[in-house]
Parts: sequence; C-alpha cells; structure tokens
Amino acid sequence: MAGLEDLYREIILDHYRTPRNRGELDAPAVSAEGHNPLCGDEIRIFVDVQNGIVTDVRFNGSGCSISQSSASMMTSAIKGKPVDQVKAIVKKFKSMMTVDEDESPVDESLNLGDLEALQGVVKFPVRIKCATLGWNTLLDALTTAGQ
Ligand code: ZN
Repeated sequence: MAGLEDLYREIILDHYRTPRNRGELDAPAVSAEGHNPLCGDEIRIFVDVQNGIVTDVRFNGSGCSISQSSASMMTSAIKGKPVDQVKAIVKKFKSMMTVDEDESPVDESLNLGDLEALQGVVKFPVRIKCATLGWNTLLDALTTAGQ
C-alpha cells in the first residue's frame, strides 16, 4: 500500500504548502487560540456562526506540517455546515485519532474525505496532539460563540 501512503503524504504537503482559509475574521466572528508545547505548534481559529451555521472559518498560526495541514483540511471540511454537523465531524475525526473521550456513537455515514490522510498519524502518538490541535481550538471557538 505504498501508493496510498504517498497519496496521503501528498495531500498533507499540499495543505501545508497551500493552506486553505488562512487568515483572520473580523467581529462578530470569534476566535480561540491553541498551543501544543510538545512541538511548538500555535493555532488561532476564527469562526463566524450565523443562525446555527458556520458561515466562515479561518486559521492562522505556525508549527509543523501536521498541525497546519490538519487545520487547513478542517476548515475546508466544516465551512458552510451546520454547527451540529461540524461537531459530528470533530467527533469522528477525534475518534479516528483515538482521542475521543465521549462514549456516544460516531456517525459512521460521515465521509471525512481528505482528512483520512491524517489517520497514519495515529502510528506516531507524539504527533496526535499536532493533528488535533486545530480541532480542539475550534471547539473552544465554538464555545466562545455560544455554540
Ligand atoms: Zn506539531
């Protein structure tokens, strides 16, 4: 399966080199900041929630390719989706990363698309915090937004 690993590496590098939704959002959008001191990754996530829909999302920060590409893929996956669905995607991603502490069932019908490229990270436990940093920061931002 070397071909699949090469494809996954390409997807991760593509998002690292050409990040999607990089930048900031003005109020009424809210933001949250996350750090991963183990690796030195820093992420700030901006979300604009209108009528229960994540109408826009941006991120900025600096860090390793896993942290930045994961945040880029996340923004692509959640933009324009209802908050409920966004939370289901977060849950499924964290479950793929085996860091989901919530015992409730995962929506198996959700397609994570490019995000599946990150599943190889599970083999490197120190990098899991890199991959999930943007996601935990997103949850903080949604809480700040009252969601
Ligand atoms: Zn990292």
